[in-house]
Amino acid sequence: MDAAHEPGCDLRHTPRQRCNANALGRPASEWPAAPAHRGRTDEPPAPATAVTVEFLGSGDAFGSGGRFQACLLLRTPDGSLLIDCGATSLVAMKRAGVDPSEIGLVLVSHLHGDHFGGLPFLILDGQFSGRRHPLVIAGPPGLRERLTRAMEVLFPGSSTAVRRFPVEVVQLAPRVSARLNPVTVTAFEVIHASGDPAFALRVEYGERVVAYSGDTAWTDALIDAANGSDLFVCEAYFAEKRVRYHLDYATLKEHAPRLGCKRIILTHMSADMLGRSEVAFERAEDGTVIRV
Ligand SMILES: [Zn+2]
Ligand SMILES: [Zn+2]
Repeated sequence: MDAAHEPGCDLRHTPRQRCNANALGRPASEWPAAPAHRGRTDEPPAPATAVTVEFLGSGDAFGSGGRFQACLLLRTPDGSLLIDCGATSLVAMKRAGVDPSEIGLVLVSHLHGDHFGGLPFLILDGQFSGRRHPLVIAGPPGLRERLTRAMEVLFPGSSTAVRRFPVEVVQLAPRVSARLNPVTVTAFEVIHASGDPAFALRVEYGERVVAYSGDTAWTDALIDAANGSDLFVCEAYFAEKRVRYHLDYATLKEHAPRLGCKRIILTHMSADMLGRSEVAFERAEDGTVIRV
């Protein structure tokens, strides 16, 4: 927090941003109402080393239920990171009052637009807001080339622009743990056609473990990713319908006893799944916060 603050401002923001104001200069009091589930209070008190997981986006690729695309914000005492950054995620961050410059690391599960399409916007936002500290982006093999191509398609010349902060791209190898401050991440290859390998991710901060399926058909690799985790964030695209390369609720329920995780929460839901009345697991909403 390096800017002078006006009374009552508790935002983390860059020197160029005004207190209690977003990039358009509107006071926080005039922002659109945050989803009702933000800051829910039914969670136990956080231990000193707790990680919080905030669903900035819990939707599918097509905005089902008016939800933002895949984006999880993990906050640890040693820094914050995103897991996936879909095309809508910069908007989701600003709507939730999250300063993008808070993010030092983005972990990408796979190279579909609803999971990595927000990266060009995040990088350019840093460029135009005076960001200085490094941004590390880690994901599947192919990430470096696909990110460069995405930036050039959306903003020609942007991939080679001179910036005051370094962007480091790390390509993860399956089942090889990588230490990326503030966490250790292990990728597990899953079954999802996206032009390059697709991963489930296991993210460890000390004793805390958050696992994430990404998008995938059922595979026992999810057991390896989720085993012993405190929280497993899992795709449930449709309720019963089997869609190629995706996981449905019925299949997940069948395999869930094998996962070995403490808690499951569903994400990436279509309108079909959102409309299902009785579900055996928690369902995320945009704004849901879980302490791990
Ligand atoms: Zn997706
Ligand atoms: Zn996908």
